[in-house]
Amino acid sequence: MTELLVYSERVDTARELLAGGRELAAKLGLGVSALALGPGAAAAAADLAAAGADTVYVSEEAVFDGWPADAVAAGLAQVAGQAGAGVVLVGSTRRGKETAPRLAQKLGAGCVTDVSSLVVEDGELVAGRYAFGGATVAREKLTTPVKVFAVMPKTFSTEGATPGAGAVVTQTFTVESKVKVLDRRAKEGDVVNLDAAPAIVCAGRGFGAREDLALADDLAAALGAVVGCTKSLADFEWLGEDRIIGLSGAKTAPDLYVGVGISGQIQHTVGITGAKLIGVVISFIGLIIIVGRNPGSGFFSNVLGELAVIAASLSYASTSVFVRRFLRDQPTTVLAIGQLASAEVFLLAGILLAEWPLRLPTLPITWLSVLWLGILGSGFAYLLYFYLIKEMGASRTTTV
Ligand SMILES: Cc1cc2nc3c(=O)[nH]c(=O)nc-3n(C[C@H](O)[C@H](O)[C@H](O)COP(=O)(O)OP(=O)(O)OC[C@H]3O[C@@H](n4cnc5c(N)ncnc54)[C@H](O)[C@@H]3O)c2cc1C
Repeated sequence: MTELLVYSERVDTARELLAGGRELAAKLGLGVSALALGPGAAAAAADLAAAGADTVYVSEEAVFDGWPADAVAAGLAQVAGQAGAGVVLVGSTRRGKETAPRLAQKLGAGCVTDVSSLVVEDGELVAGRYAFGGATVAREKLTTPVKVFAVMPKTFSTEGATPGAGAVVTQTFTVESKVKVLDRRAKEGDVVNLDAAPAIVCAGRGFGAREDLALADDLAAALGAVVGCTKSLADFEWLGEDRIIGLSGAKTAPDLYVGVGISGQIQHTVGITGAKLIGVVISFIGLIIIVGRNPGSGFFSNVLGELAVIAASLSYASTSVFVRRFLRDQPTTVLAIGQLASAEVFLLAGILLAEWPLRLPTLPITWLSVLWLGILGSGFAYLLYFYLIKEMGASRTTTV
C-alpha cells in the first residue's frame, strides 16, 4: 500500500482533497495520485497534475458520463488496486457519498462518510464526523488495511498549496454501469453554488413572511453576496434546498457570512465554521455586528451566551447599588450612561475571565464589536428601563 488516491467529480473539491491529502501522505510516507473521469476529465487531469498529484489517471469513456456511482466505484477500485492505494479520499458530495461505500465494498475496506476533519495521530488516520444531529464530533479510525474516507468539501484549504508537475496517464477501463440515462433536463428554479460564494447573507426563521426575503436580497446585493438559508426556510419552500447551509446542506467558507433572523443551532453553524468573518444582523436597530474571525460552531451558544448571562446579572446588580448611591436624582440619560459604563466594565472583565487563556480572536474589530454591542444594546435597554421606572414605578416595570 504505497499510495493515497484522490477522487471527486468536482474539480475544486478534488483540488482541496489533494492539498489535504498531500500533507497526510507526507506523514504516512505515501505517494499521491488522483483520478479524473467523465466528460472534461482531460482538462481536470491537467489541473490536478499541476495542483500536486504525482500521477493523475484519466478517462473520458462514455460509461462515466454523469458519474454513475456503480461505474465510478468500479473505476476507482481498478485504479486503487493497480496503484496500490492504501487510502482513498473521495469528495463527500451527493455522488461521492453514493460512490464511497460501493468502492469500500469492492476493496474490502472500511469506510467513513461525511468526514469533517482528517488528521494523522500516532501514525494513524483519525476522522472527525458530526454525530447526534451535529451535537458532537465522533472521532473514528479504520482498522482495515485499505481505508476509504468521503471528506466534506471545504474540509481542506487550497490556500498556500505548493504547485506540482505530476504525470497524466490515460487509463482504459473495463467497466459497465447498470444506470441507463434516458433523458437529461436542466434543474429548474433555484440553483446556487454556496460553496464557492465569497460572501453569504443567510436568512432564517426570523423572517416572518416570504415577501420579507426581499430584504435579504437587497442586503446581499449591497454586499455582493449570495443568499443562503437555514433548513427552516427550505422546509417552508420559501427558498430552494440548494440554499441550505449546515449539516443537511452546504458547508461553506466565505470571506463574510451575515446571519439574519437565525438562532445559530449547531446543525446550521457546522456549515459556517470555515467563514472568515461572521456577522449577525440585529434587526431592531438595523445593525450588522461582526462578532469575530471564524469563531467556531459553539460561538453563538457558548461564549456569547455565558457572557450575556454573567454580564447581565452583574450589571443589573451594579446598577442597583450605583443608582441608589450616586445617581438617584439624575435624569434618565445620565442613569443609562452610568449603567452602560458599568455593564462594559463587567462585559470586558467577563470576557477576560471566562475565556482565559484568551481563545477569542483579538482582532481590533472584535473588541470594537463587543463594545458597540454593549454600548448600543445596554444603552438602549436601560434608557427604556429607567424611562419605565419613572413613568410607571419600579414594581410595575419589574412586572413588565
Ligand atoms: C438532523 C438534522 C439536520 C439539520 N440540518 C440542518 C441544516 O443543515 N441547516 C439548518 O439550518 N438547520 C438544520 N437543522 C435544523 C436546525 O436544528 C434548526 O431547527 C434550524 O437551523 C433553525 O433555523 P433558524 O435559525 O432559521 O430558526 P429558529 O431557531 O427558529 O431561529 C429564528 C431566530 O430568529 C430570531 N428572530 C425572530 N424574529 C426576529 C426579527 N424580527 N429580527 C431578527 N431576528 C429575529 C429569533 O430570536 C431566533 O433566534 C437540522 C435539524 C436536524 C434534526
